[in-house]
Amino acid sequence: MPELPEIENYRVLLTERLAGDRITGTQVLQEKFLNVSAEQFDEALTNRTIWFVERRGNHLLLHLDNGKRLLAQLHAGAYLFYGQGEERPQSEAQIVIHMEKGSLYVAGMRQGFVHLLSVKETQQVLAELGPDPLDKRLTLEKFVQLFRKKRGALKAALADQQVISGIGSVYADEIAFAAAVRPDIKIPLIQEDAWQRLFEAMHVVLKDAAAKGGSMEQPLTMDDKLTGGYYIQRRVYERAGEACSTCGSQIEVVGTAARKAFVCPSCQPEQVES
Ligand SMILES: [Zn+2]
Repeated sequence: MPELPEIENYRVLLTERLAGDRITGTQVLQEKFLNVSAEQFDEALTNRTIWFVERRGNHLLLHLDNGKRLLAQLHAGAYLFYGQGEERPQSEAQIVIHMEKGSLYVAGMRQGFVHLLSVKETQQVLAELGPDPLDKRLTLEKFVQLFRKKRGALKAALADQQVISGIGSVYADEIAFAAAVRPDIKIPLIQEDAWQRLFEAMHVVLKDAAAKGGSMEQPLTMDDKLTGGYYIQRRVYERAGEACSTCGSQIEVVGTAARKAFVCPSCQPEQVES
């Protein structure tokens, strides 16, 4: 599922393409991802100008000139494509927004949504989410406070969108590795110095991954060489059996199924309970 770096990459790349452009029409092939009918969607969007593109956690927001917002959340498999003329995404799109300069395709959707919302409705949806990891108001102290009621494993809490918004399976593991903390450590056992390392690693990993294009498989445009660039540079996620790039130890999987995590047993030693 796209996480903060993937959506931040989209935000940057789409800002230069969408901001100021006028919507000329829409095509909705699957209405179930909308909160309004295809007809209402088309009527509300046509002739509107996109003011700017914003990101909150792993949500993408398009601000329209009539105060309405388009709030999109992409789940696993879904991706965006921006094309001009005959350029099309690699698979069928479920929603297409045509503008004067090009078209935005939402493809690969099985879950997730593209909702047309008022300012108030947008605020209500976003109020359900934890703070954005890169929000400058999120200090180390506030970050630690977010986890005070949690008793489970670190990874589950990092990936809980109501605790902190924008981190999922990939970056929870990458952040834990960068902080030299086990993703399966129980929250109450995390020491003060480890919280500090996690807080710093969260910023470094997410910003670095976003700058390198995140981990999406599909390019945003035909000539896009940036998107997805982080995937080959990830350190532990889905690298079980490979050598750790820091120490050479074999990357291991800990936990099972939905709770599995990738760790380097040497760089992320298990903490001995005292
Ligand atoms: Zn290692």
